[in-house]
Amino acid sequence: VTHAPRLSEIGEFGFLERLRSLRIPRRDVELGIGDDCAVVRAGRRRLLLTTDALVENVHFRWAWDTPAGLGERSFAVNASDIAAMGGTPRFALLSIVAPRSARVDRLEGMIRGFAAAARKSGCALVGGNLSAGPQWMISVTLVGEPFGIPLRRSGARAGDHLYVSGLLGAAGLSREILLGRRRGSPRQTLAFRRPRARLDVGEMLARTRVASAVIDLSDGLLSDLGHVCRASRVGARIDAERLPFAPPLSRLAKEERLALALGGGEDYELLFTVPPVRARRLEEAARRRSLVVTDIGRMTRERGIRLAGARPRSTGFVGGFDHFRR
Ligand SMILES: [Mg+2]
Repeated sequence: VTHAPRLSEIGEFGFLERLRSLRIPRRDVELGIGDDCAVVRAGRRRLLLTTDALVENVHFRWAWDTPAGLGERSFAVNASDIAAMGGTPRFALLSIVAPRSARVDRLEGMIRGFAAAARKSGCALVGGNLSAGPQWMISVTLVGEPFGIPLRRSGARAGDHLYVSGLLGAAGLSREILLGRRRGSPRQTLAFRRPRARLDVGEMLARTRVASAVIDLSDGLLSDLGHVCRASRVGARIDAERLPFAPPLSRLAKEERLALALGGGEDYELLFTVPPVRARRLEEAARRRSLVVTDIGRMTRERGIRLAGARPRSTGFVGGFDHFRR
């Protein structure tokens, strides 16, 4: 009897590996499965395609936020994948599963919040679908347009500088408060509830062409950096002393700070690599636009991710989030 593997055994990313053989060579598909977005050609234009679902009691609870706030978040976490490719979201589809007993005001408020957030980013909600099911699910599909050549995960080289935008760890801390694992006020949970897609940083990287690889921070820095390393066939060294911790983490012990910044996830900042010869140009471009970017390490020939400047026991993190492995 052969054993049919379960998703919990191979994990989300293990499963994605199995789909690589599904890649169909077509001239109008520039980039298929395996990056933050697919890149396709429609006529002379390149389009970015991405989709993601938020499931009740897995990704959100109604008690955590207003319906409009949840709609805003649903847009932002998807727009983040467009940001990571150096593009801007243009069109959105919303596919919703709701129980038959669902409150209409929740459904409508969520959709209105989504549409308003989309509009602010120049994106139009153009359609969707509503189905009945045992629990809520909000599935978002976005079509975006790249500012230049789309930014991939696969171009990092040994010696490249490793950068992150913004500050790290606040979303992970917020989620722990929402889950009741730490004490805190509703205001202290905003970082999780209202992430901001870094469309500004993605646009800068696309226009200046300084980055060799880009990914957004959704699963956690170690996990997302792991994707860049695998796609680019390199390793990385993170300098713990350089990590830009969000202010709410300052009252925590160093180990906790590191765990949240490296493994907490949901920060939706961009992680990117820049060849040494372009590092000054990046920093000047960021300064001109008042964007915060921090050099947190280097890409290495040696595979794997090393954490420098932290005690050995704080390097043993299980990094990031996989939907099926626990
Ligand atoms: Mg992503």
